[in-house]
Amino acid sequence: MNFQEIIDLQRQFFNTNTTKNISFRIQELKRLKGVLKKNEAELYESIYKDFKKSEFETYTTELSIIYHEIDLAIKKVKKWARKKKASTGLTNLPGKSYIIPEPFGTVLVIGAWNYPYQLSLCPAIAAIAAGCTVVLKPSEVPSRTSATMERLINQNFDSSFFKVIEGGVKETTALLDIKFDKIFFTGSVPVGKIIYQAAAKHLTPVTLELGGKSPAIITKDINIDMTAKRLVWGKFLNAGQTCIAPDYVMVESSIKDAFLSAVKKHIDKSDYHVDNDNYTQIVNDKNFDRLVEMIEEEKIYVGSTGNKEERVIPPTVLRDVDFSDKVMQDEIFGPILPVLTFDTIDEAISKVKKLSKPLSCYIFTKNNAVQKKILNEISFGGGAVNDAVMHFTEQTLPFGGVGDSGIGNYHGKFGFETFSHYKSVLQKPFLIEPNLKYPPYSPTKLKWLKRIIG
Ligand code: NAD
Repeated sequence: MNFQEIIDLQRQFFNTNTTKNISFRIQELKRLKGVLKKNEAELYESIYKDFKKSEFETYTTELSIIYHEIDLAIKKVKKWARKKKASTGLTNLPGKSYIIPEPFGTVLVIGAWNYPYQLSLCPAIAAIAAGCTVVLKPSEVPSRTSATMERLINQNFDSSFFKVIEGGVKETTALLDIKFDKIFFTGSVPVGKIIYQAAAKHLTPVTLELGGKSPAIITKDINIDMTAKRLVWGKFLNAGQTCIAPDYVMVESSIKDAFLSAVKKHIDKSDYHVDNDNYTQIVNDKNFDRLVEMIEEEKIYVGSTGNKEERVIPPTVLRDVDFSDKVMQDEIFGPILPVLTFDTIDEAISKVKKLSKPLSCYIFTKNNAVQKKILNEISFGGGAVNDAVMHFTEQTLPFGGVGDSGIGNYHGKFGFETFSHYKSVLQKPFLIEPNLKYPPYSPTKLKWLKRIIG
């Protein structure tokens, strides 16, 4: 079956209105959870073979998040999909107004490689909850996880409803030629622009979950040890291959040395060592080479340029870094942490704002005024005060970027909304029809209309 035939089939199925049925959506979400649970061992094995991601991190950062999204959708979808009342103005009385969430239709989800299960399946879950049919194109970079998703989904779901299509640039380009009702993309800024342009040809709405350089700003009054502990975890989890990892740190000059030694202590205490089975590999040679190029050896505080054969780079902290350094030119997306310093909060803010709007921002401070100032003055997708990465796990928070870091958001109810059109309706009875708005127009009618409309 060619791509066009698959999409035609999905459109036909969508037009049967089966997916509008809430019990159908719940049944399919339960099916997905069942399939994943039953095949967890294979999911762990595939991702370990792809880039040595441990069972611990695969559960905590991929499967548990997927299961929570499914469980929440099953619990709430009836409420989310309910027609919502809206108030009606005097002009339209007697009448009532309401909003009906309706599924966009046949949607395309394009995944990124760094959290291959979660970044592919969470948008698909939101689309299913909203009542869409789904074509999922996972990243081809981790080839085994992509093949596993293809097998598990395509063997357990009807392709007219949910279909995985594997492939890279060629296949994605071919898919983008076809009209979808919504495209949900996770990946890099340059490819995000390609997706946006392709979608524009069909006037297809998009959600773009992109990347960027996410700062962590640290003032001198913090609990240094706990800050370092939280940052080391957030940065080196998945070997730094996390879109919301703190890309770089800006620390107040007076505590730089104390902060660096606390970071070193927590790296030493952690599982993030090249020979530890819980420490993830760099996904491929291309990314390994890209990362090594960013490391200026004379600035290494801890770490090294790693081992190419094993495709592993230890947690590497760079000190005395400047915004003009190579490591500060692009998103790092690996286990390299540049540490920069500042003397005033205005200086830190103005330097962060010279770069594109980040996906995340982390503020470590006990000073409420500083916290408020940063939240007020720096635009970013989402973030945390005195923590890193964990905001991602809150299903009550919309997850997405702003500016160069993305368009739109998802997670929990926000995912449902992302795949829904909110259809607005005014409903009138046949009781009466005042003549005021109808011709022939007259000064008296206008006077009354001005009184009523305001
Ligand atoms: P990528 O842009 O290279 O690839 C993403 C997807 O696009 C893949 O499925 C790939 O097959 C496809 N693709 C690649 N080139 C294409 C082209 N020319 N035409 C059409 N499709 C193409 O990104 P990646 O390397 O998989 O992921 C890394 C980037 O993604 C980082 O910038 C990271 O910050 C970002 N990211 C963002 C989020 C988020 O939630 N905002 C999550 C993870 C990763």
